[in-house]
Amino acid sequence: MELWELGAWDIAHKVRAKEVSAQEVLESHLARISEIEPGLCAFLEVLEAEARIAASRVDAKIAGGEDPGILAGVPCAIKDNMNIKGTACTCGSKMLDGYISPYTATAIKRMSREGAVVTGKTNLDEFAMGSSTESSAYMVTRNPWDPDRVPGGSSGGSAAAVAAGLSTVALGSDTGGSIRQPASFTGIVGLKPTYGRVSRYGLVAFASSLDQIGPFGRDVRDVALLLEAISGLDTADSTSVERPVVPWSKRLERPLKGLRAGVPKELLGLSVDDGVRDAFYRALSHLADMGAVIEETSLPALRYALDAYYVIAPAEASSNLSRFDGVRYGLSTRGKALDDMYHATRAQGFGPEVRRRIMLGTFALSAGYYDAYYLRAAKTRTLIRRDFDEAFKVYDVLLSPATPTVAFRAGEESGDPMTKYLADAMTVSANLAGIPALSVPCGFARPSDAGLTGRDLPCGLQIMGKPFDEETVLAIGYAVEASVREEMEEKSGRMRRNLLLSKECERVD
Ligand code: GLN
Repeated sequence: MELWELGAWDIAHKVRAKEVSAQEVLESHLARISEIEPGLCAFLEVLEAEARIAASRVDAKIAGGEDPGILAGVPCAIKDNMNIKGTACTCGSKMLDGYISPYTATAIKRMSREGAVVTGKTNLDEFAMGSSTESSAYMVTRNPWDPDRVPGGSSGGSAAAVAAGLSTVALGSDTGGSIRQPASFTGIVGLKPTYGRVSRYGLVAFASSLDQIGPFGRDVRDVALLLEAISGLDTADSTSVERPVVPWSKRLERPLKGLRAGVPKELLGLSVDDGVRDAFYRALSHLADMGAVIEETSLPALRYALDAYYVIAPAEASSNLSRFDGVRYGLSTRGKALDDMYHATRAQGFGPEVRRRIMLGTFALSAGYYDAYYLRAAKTRTLIRRDFDEAFKVYDVLLSPATPTVAFRAGEESGDPMTKYLADAMTVSANLAGIPALSVPCGFARPSDAGLTGRDLPCGLQIMGKPFDEETVLAIGYAVEASVREEMEEKSGRMRRNLLLSKECERVD
């Protein structure tokens, strides 16, 4: 077995036990990156030199008898909307061309302190707006399961890098599903933590009341381990919350007997592909076999979640993105007067999806329409929260498919933004309510457009939990994972070993 095939848990143990060095682990990954990355397009930048320094520091600590941390020598890729001091941070946008981060995000500082080795910055939909990573201004990331398909988004680069074995784990951000949906599309695990669990300091804001940084990994234990490293109060983020950081990675095995899980019928009522629905039901019956009590339930306000999200997220985005004005960050296009410069810079720097969101948000917040749109959406959000509060009086977790379909073809959804927005139907409610939600692979399904020779693609199950109860969410994820472990390991191991991406991707500099 090559070192790039190992999970974070194993790497950290082997490095700590001096069975391998952090530098050997890194070199194996860098070699894998040079082989696969030209055809995958997961990385906007590989931070080779910085990674070598970080790995040698870990090895030096071990040699000096110091504790190297729980992620000793584990390679980690970072979505390119998080700041790392002294390196570029593009957010997948031309707007940040030339911008160099003056400081490092808290989550990244924390995991580096635990011995993680940052290998590079990954591709994303421009400013994290999208579900396919196609709205990046730089390149389109491929799905390693099928290069004609998207890896999901907006954290598609991070998901593809982990799924393809270019990185052991990765960080993404999730405002309406951008960790869970790409995890589902690429057959890996992704967690959106409770709002406030992980500091957002250093994450470029999209919609501040919804954004959360979270971990990707190839199994639940790795995701739990990375969560341990990045969680905790940060005085630099006023929305971060003081809650004990639990050793989640050691608390995954728990009996499911008597555990109560609800399946909101509002989510299953959406148009879900047959194959995805079948895989979801199979996973439910495994959980029932293990003793969980599973019932259909109703959270009526979830019907309006997507509508509320697509008012609130653009409204906050229109405000957050006003800081990109040609003066403070990155791109600056000169004009005769100050106003001309603002206009020219923004017209040149923002792509079509970002402009659409800014227009939608500005409209929803404008004087004549605020009550009709923003205020109504905010009230709907309260109703959604209340529905969750009520449901969690009865159930420990709520379950749904993570996405209504498996990965779709590149180019397929770029035409009609409404179709694309519908793909977020399963995931946005957790952000509106601030609760933790995990996507874990639960099997495979044949895409509806695959034809006779098409191959099956992975699909994910979503587990939503009570605020700050990541422990239960992860434990159930671990049980779901166990029920498909053999099939998953066999198929994804084969996918990675046989991965041959012949066509180089087009990159815009
Ligand atoms: N797909 C959703 C959107 O485009 C979610 C994005 C995200 O979570 N960053 O808004």
